[in-house]
Amino acid sequence: MAEPVDVLVLGGGPAALCVASELNQRGVSVAGIASDPVDAPWPNTYGIWADELKAVGLEQLLEHRWSDTVSFFGEGGSTAQDRSHAHGIDYGLFDRAVLQRHWLERADGVVWHQDTAERVELKGSTTLVSCASGTTMQARLVIDASGSRTHHIRRPDQGPVAGQAAYGVVGRFSKPPIEPDRFVLMDYRCDHLSETQRQEPPTFLYAMDLGDGVFFVEETSLALAPAVPYDVLQQRLQQRLDQRGVEITEVIHEEFCLFPMNLPLPDRRQPLLAFGGAASMVHPASGYMVGSLLRRGPDLAQALAEAITNPSLGSAALAQRGWQALWPLELVLRHQLYQFGLGRLMGFNEALLRTHFATFFALPRDEWFGFLTNTLPLPRLMSVMLRLFALAPWELRRGLVLGAPPSQSPTWTQSNG
Ligand SMILES: Cc1cc2nc3c(=O)[nH]c(=O)nc-3n(C[C@H](O)[C@H](O)[C@H](O)COP(=O)(O)OP(=O)(O)OC[C@H]3O[C@@H](n4cnc5c(N)ncnc54)[C@H](O)[C@@H]3O)c2cc1C
Repeated sequence: MAEPVDVLVLGGGPAALCVASELNQRGVSVAGIASDPVDAPWPNTYGIWADELKAVGLEQLLEHRWSDTVSFFGEGGSTAQDRSHAHGIDYGLFDRAVLQRHWLERADGVVWHQDTAERVELKGSTTLVSCASGTTMQARLVIDASGSRTHHIRRPDQGPVAGQAAYGVVGRFSKPPIEPDRFVLMDYRCDHLSETQRQEPPTFLYAMDLGDGVFFVEETSLALAPAVPYDVLQQRLQQRLDQRGVEITEVIHEEFCLFPMNLPLPDRRQPLLAFGGAASMVHPASGYMVGSLLRRGPDLAQALAEAITNPSLGSAALAQRGWQALWPLELVLRHQLYQFGLGRLMGFNEALLRTHFATFFALPRDEWFGFLTNTLPLPRLMSVMLRLFALAPWELRRGLVLGAPPSQSPTWTQSNG
């Protein structure tokens, strides 16, 4: 059995590195268990609104930054509503290696074991973790930061979990697929789809100019259960590019993205704590999480560092302190509101979704930004949602109140270009 530590962190992604580094900075003895080398490159690219990083003083972690940030909520054509909607604030893409190094440097001294945690069990006042290698490790508190697919964390079964699915290409194109120097958050134009396809659950383009003639274009479905299949997303992306007379001339990287948007909150009485995807921290309305790690990691670590100084507290009591710090009532209630909103949105057809986002992004900047980044206090969040309702056309209001008609399993149209 390895030397016991105060906190054992499971995982090697952004959440694990974030919480391990914050605890380490507060003098807590921490070790980690990660399936892959902890400095191995991460597979995903992470985007964020630049102001979220500015608020935590970490703008230097961006590799790309765009000031021309837009969305399209029209059908596609030449009417006024088909023009781009300017967001008016900068968006950025993390330099993944720099973000990883930032946390690893702050976690200097943390021992990372390359292994896979297979079983986690409470033993008296401590917790034992059995690994694939046969090693067992012991800690006063275990934090599961091994992603949303973890089976160590108990959470209620609330039915099918909706996934955000996306298929993207980083590559070179016969001509720019979007305006040079631009970031497109959501392009909901749909004039490249057949009438049948337009009855299917909507998808949008997320795209950016990465410089040197390289662009990232990604066809994305906000959230759906079951998730939109990759081949449907790929076909829709191809149709979208065809419509604009754009050919892919070189594929540098393909991204297949799938993660849960409305994973139920964990049972917060369990003696094992979680952080990141494992703790359902993905924002149910936007799918973003890294900003929230940067904001919430320090508070969680501070609460744990204080609790750990009390030697009489065992795993269950420490986990309780952790759950309270991570998911206080205020955040639980906000999360429920977001989940309610997402449930409504998932039933919207393409036209209603376009109307919804056009109305949403017409809100004052502080309101839509605060909503998307989960930085509005609960009363303000509620008033923004009410304001959105008041501004919405009648058809949208009906959808927001009554929800979708009884759902049928979507059937997908293939290759009718
Ligand atoms: C393709 C994609 C794009 C995304 N883009 C964005 C974005 O632009 N902005 C944003 O804010 N969010 C984004 N997200 C959402 C979210 O931020 C990511 O899913 C994020 O990677 C979650 O971090 P995590 O550390 O919780 O889990 P993960 O990144 O999934 O990391 C889990 C880690 O734990 C390890 N592990 C798993 N099981 C075990 C085990 N049993 N024992 C030991 N180690 C284990 C894995 O090897 C992995 O290293 C994206 C998600 C995806 C999938």
